[in-house]
Amino acid sequence: MQCNDCPRFCKIDRKKRKGFCGAKDKIVLAKVIENFMWEEPCISGKKGTLALFFAGCNLKCSYCQNYKISHEIKGDEFSVEEFASFLTTFNMKKYSALELITPTHFSSLLIKVFQIFKSPIPVVWNSSGYENEKTISQISKFVDVFLPDFKYSDNDLATKLSCAPNYFEIATNAIKKMRKEKGKNVFKNGLLINGILIRHLVLPGQIENSKNVLNKIKKEINEPFISLMSQFVPIKQDKHFSRTILSLEYKIILNYAKKLKLENGYLQEYTSANNSFIPNF
Ligand code: SF4
Repeated sequence: MQCNDCPRFCKIDRKKRKGFCGAKDKIVLAKVIENFMWEEPCISGKKGTLALFFAGCNLKCSYCQNYKISHEIKGDEFSVEEFASFLTTFNMKKYSALELITPTHFSSLLIKVFQIFKSPIPVVWNSSGYENEKTISQISKFVDVFLPDFKYSDNDLATKLSCAPNYFEIATNAIKKMRKEKGKNVFKNGLLINGILIRHLVLPGQIENSKNVLNKIKKEINEPFISLMSQFVPIKQDKHFSRTILSLEYKIILNYAKKLKLENGYLQEYTSANNSFIPNF
């Protein structure tokens, strides 16, 4: 099987070799957190999600806030059948949603899993936005809510931080496809049960990057529902950033979002972020 799960198109046989993402032909789960409350209120709800953190990543940002699990493939390995069976061991009624976190590089395996396992609660696809339109079309059959990041408009920055020189165009097309697949957002009792919520984490010293991400969302995405985040925390493994964002930087971006009338969603207040924003894996 040649892997084309993500826009890197490594075209390798994952039974034999690892691609950029580090994954082979088994699903690798780094962590499970039940009743996970760290997402936006329309995702976490009152119960929290059943959060499944997959090991590895197809983007591997240098500043990743989940560095320990995204840059290594360490965790429990599952075949498709084993993973479908594993999901049946949870009482899904205890959670607001079944949340798949950084799942893109396991897309083709997860498509098979969800042919076996039918989730009684919304399935949330929490991803980097660096995804193929074809894959999005396939996963839309079992994904109810897309929760993509839209990280960069500046492809030089995307290259430097994530080795993704075409991130802006790829993410734009991926998010447009997600919007097309899901139509209008649907809420039930305050929970987003069908639709898309686009996230943007403001990076230190990167005001123009953020402004142009917002410009693109405004121009290209119908009825955008966004989450603007200020909680960037530098990590010791990253050589590019050594500080959090400044209050003034965030204020400029926040005002810009308001000027564009991108106010539907969550415009986080400025927080002087610290390590408490990084889950301890
Ligand atoms: S999912 Fe991994 S192996 Fe497949 S194309 Fe993407 S980076 Fe390469």
